[in-house]
Amino acid sequence: MIKLAHREDCCGCGACAAACPHGAIRMEADGMGFRYPVVDRTLCVDCGLCEKICAFKPVTAPVVTSAEAIRFPELMDRSQSGGLAAALMRKAFREGYVVYGAAIDEDSTVRHRRVTTPEGLEPLRLSKYVQSDMEGIPQQVLQDLKAGRKVLFTGTPCQCAGIGSLCAPYRERLLLADIVCHGVPAPAVWKGYLAYAADQAGAPVREALFRDPSLGWHEHQERLVFADGKTYTGDRYTFLFYRHLMLRPSCGTCPFASLHRSSDITMADCWGVEKVLPGFADDNRGCSLLLANTPAGAAFCSDFPDACQRQAVDVQKVLQRNLVRPTKPNRFAKSFENAYLRKGFAFVLGRYGRESLNYKLEQWIWAVKKRFRK
Ligand SMILES: Cc1cc2nc3c(=O)[nH]c(=O)nc-3n(C[C@H](O)[C@H](O)[C@H](O)COP(=O)(O)OP(=O)(O)OC[C@H]3O[C@@H](n4cnc5c(N)ncnc54)[C@H](O)[C@@H]3O)c2cc1C
Ligand code: SF4
Ligand code: SF4
Ligand code: SF4
Repeated sequence: MIKLAHREDCCGCGACAAACPHGAIRMEADGMGFRYPVVDRTLCVDCGLCEKICAFKPVTAPVVTSAEAIRFPELMDRSQSGGLAAALMRKAFREGYVVYGAAIDEDSTVRHRRVTTPEGLEPLRLSKYVQSDMEGIPQQVLQDLKAGRKVLFTGTPCQCAGIGSLCAPYRERLLLADIVCHGVPAPAVWKGYLAYAADQAGAPVREALFRDPSLGWHEHQERLVFADGKTYTGDRYTFLFYRHLMLRPSCGTCPFASLHRSSDITMADCWGVEKVLPGFADDNRGCSLLLANTPAGAAFCSDFPDACQRQAVDVQKVLQRNLVRPTKPNRFAKSFENAYLRKGFAFVLGRYGRESLNYKLEQWIWAVKKRFRK
């Protein structure tokens, strides 16, 4: 049976719970909103299946060497990088696949959902920088595959690995497309932030964009639209995300931050494309990096119905950190968690946000270190 010695050992994919033939595992959220498996020992027969299915371990597939810079001009206005995810999902839908991806629900929770209509694809577009809730999703993917359907599952590498392991007998009808992943922030902090923002604005949040694409590809700021029509654009949440204060503990030991990929396709921002392919994507509208990791992935991406510009690049020249090693958690991450759980969002924003003494001190130490290194 699954025994987690450390929180770092589990990404919360839920594959073990879906695999248990005795329904002995439920996924329970901790205070930060991260789900972990809890085993009901009265139902467990110690068959070991859950441990076998768990795919939170290094990938043994060969290193990916081929890469392309790709952009879909007509899809980029509502995409985070070059529109690759939208193009993949649209193509899969036309070819009869059931599509899975992350969307923001009416209660502002980011959840994975199953899509079978063209309108249903829209909410899956754009990055949601928070861990998406996978409750019941592995079970649905398995059901679809057992019923003979084709499935495209999009998500973080760990979610894709869990789905791939659970659905291994049906792999020829399952296409997995992952993102290069920096780590996922805590769902509870996201909710806490929205409540804080609503309180400040005097109106509930009606719509949220984690990274507003209208500001340009290189800009990373969230945008909130309130029920009274007012808006907020800034980086109160984004700043905490990029300081690695509120990531899932498993993100610091992520076995998927590598060019060994377990998914068929990998999508990312093609950072550095301006240097590698001058003139290809100099308009700050976005550019995706496409890694086709398996023959099935390469065949699927050989053409797209949506118009695109694509060019091969040397993967070594567009390598970013999370294709090499996991994100290092902030040394204050544990204190941040304790403070959030005890005192809430406004408190952690004041203590760890851009204007905090904590951050200013960190900047000062960094500047002094840099000076002495010279
Ligand atoms: C938490 C997170 C961290 C990321 N870190 C990096 C990084 O370090 N480097 C990098 O190059 N790119 C990163 N990305 C991916 C990047 O933001 C773009 O999503 C990616 O380049 C695809 O862009 P796009 O234009 O093709 O599609 P978009 O329309 O922007 O992407 C939408 C796709 O992403 C999936 N998705 C959205 N939010 C989530 C979520 N919370 N969990 C799982 N799947 C989700 C959807 O299912 C959909 O398939 C990250 C994305 C997320 C969600
Ligand atoms: S060991 Fe078997 S019965 Fe027990 S929780 Fe795991 S899968 Fe279920
Ligand atoms: S990583 Fe996934 S399969 Fe492994 S224990 Fe956690 S939830 Fe279960
Ligand atoms: S960094 Fe790794 S463990 Fe964390 S969400 Fe991304 S793929 Fe999963």
